[in-house]
Amino acid sequence: MWLAAQRMNTALAGGTLRRGEFRIPQLATLDLTGAGVREVVPRGKHLLIRLDDGRTLRTHFRMDGSWHIYRPGARWRGGPAFSVRAVLATDQWECVGYRLHDMALVATDHEDSLVGHLGPDVLGPDWDAEEAVRRLRSSPDEQIGVALLDQRNLAGIGNLYKVESLFLCGVHPWARVADVADLPGLVERARMLMLANRDHPEQSTTGDTRRGQDHWVAGRRGRPCRRCGTTILLGDQGPDLQERVTWWCPRCQAARSPIDPEARTGEPDHPKPLVTAS
Ligand SMILES: [Zn+2]
Repeated sequence: MWLAAQRMNTALAGGTLRRGEFRIPQLATLDLTGAGVREVVPRGKHLLIRLDDGRTLRTHFRMDGSWHIYRPGARWRGGPAFSVRAVLATDQWECVGYRLHDMALVATDHEDSLVGHLGPDVLGPDWDAEEAVRRLRSSPDEQIGVALLDQRNLAGIGNLYKVESLFLCGVHPWARVADVADLPGLVERARMLMLANRDHPEQSTTGDTRRGQDHWVAGRRGRPCRRCGTTILLGDQGPDLQERVTWWCPRCQAARSPIDPEARTGEPDHPKPLVTAS
């Protein structure tokens, strides 16, 4: 998300939209042609496109969205035409939004109505570790794997950085927040992993970008732990309909809590690829 925002900002900031159209019912009549783009900034997992006329367009990737940037005339390759939700083009660039979610246009002064609920932004200029930890601790009985993804606690952590930071800190994903020995250390670890990866599309947490070598536990169900050799487990974690696949090493991340998941057996490792900004 952070990288996508930088690229969108490079393409659009200071430019005038020659094309600004939307292909969702709620915004179908909106035409931003002629609008100037002030800047494109990330806020957690939200992308904010601020216009010169005092309006902000918000888009969100959720699990499958992306913005693709092309030179005018180049073939669009992000998916079938029906998956295009928005086209923002200047004389120099065409930005095509595929499978975007939560699209909304508000006055820039009222961005808080869209993102005001978010906790401190992990990659934001106003990052506040103490506030993030304070918010996490306000729900001591929550599972840490759920709490880290709750954007009201801290904004920007995705499932990959959740599972990898929990592994590196030896914390069981189903442990209660109150039982995490070093919560500030866990938050800092997640932030360091994200900082190390924000400037490139590869998301390696091991320091090795080769396919299959790039993660400690993510995508590795049934394979031996890189540290101890124990078989990596996979389970679904989170509230109904919002479950996220969670990998962990039952030895390196020994359970310290009575809440314990049932690991999946005999199913495919991962239903969808981990999404990267493109
Ligand atoms: Zn292990």
